[in-house]
Amino acid sequence: MLAHTSNIALMTATTSPYIGRFAPTPSGHLHFGSLVAALASYLDARAAGGRWLLRMEDLDPPREEPGAQTAILKALESYGFEWDGEMVRQSERHDAYLQVVNQLFNHGLAYACTCSRKQLAPYHGIYPGLCRNAGHAREDAAIRLRVPELEYHFTDRVQGEYRQHLGRDVGDFVIRRRDGLYAYQLAVVLDDAWQGVTDIVRGADLLDSTPRQLYLQELLGLAQPRYLHLPLITQPDGNKLGKSYRSPPLTEDQATPLLLRALRALGQQPDPALDGATPAEVLTWGTRHWDALLIPRTLTLPEAQLR
Ligand code: GLU
Ligand code: ZN
Repeated sequence: MLAHTSNIALMTATTSPYIGRFAPTPSGHLHFGSLVAALASYLDARAAGGRWLLRMEDLDPPREEPGAQTAILKALESYGFEWDGEMVRQSERHDAYLQVVNQLFNHGLAYACTCSRKQLAPYHGIYPGLCRNAGHAREDAAIRLRVPELEYHFTDRVQGEYRQHLGRDVGDFVIRRRDGLYAYQLAVVLDDAWQGVTDIVRGADLLDSTPRQLYLQELLGLAQPRYLHLPLITQPDGNKLGKSYRSPPLTEDQATPLLLRALRALGQQPDPALDGATPAEVLTWGTRHWDALLIPRTLTLPEAQLR
């Protein structure tokens, strides 16, 4: 029995190596926060000898900034990042999303919601289930996933134990919008599973999305990846990084100093000799010296460093 168990463990270890990813949304250019996410996901994957995938999360054409996709690719390249395989675009995955939405709907796990923004305004983002039993047709309606009255929790590699009660703190959430566009929560879960992603490294702004994603994984019988949510960057006044502090596009001539600044933001201690290095050399150094245990839970940056 024991021998059998350890064989399975061995098989899992050899057949599921580390697969990480970076998944930018082309609603604008990459900024310092996105660089930190790209860098951490890249170094964590490479230090583990794993693969690093790139996925363009272009689910929302109306909010896409023209030229953003090209600018993102160019920035990643000039900062020395090399991804494995072809980049995946979520805009090419609609059939997969549709199939799952239909399945969930047909099994009664999701339902059509015709509530207007105005109707929902008093509920502060927590859907009160108004259409749960209305039996609306799915055409011209949003599709919401029914959530259980349960708390979901996981242990994040940096943020520690995180818990959220789906019924009380989130409510039934949208998986397909009324305008026919698919929701991030659905697409991200399906794509991470489809691409075999084992490790998700991303910004702490998505920490409170994770329990919804855990529920979807459970519902669809998908494996749960490991999670590492990077520090939330706060302003010197303690508030969450706001629009006024958004940094400018990542320019090519700033690649080395910004990579070094991002490394420091991640708690790593880059060698001063790297000041004159190429971006690729910084990434090589970063991979060799990567220690995810040094990543801080929160990060306050002086305003000057954010520009
Ligand atoms: N596309 C999301 C963003 O740019 C990231 C999604 C994820 O990493 O799960 O914020
Ligand atoms: Zn409704």
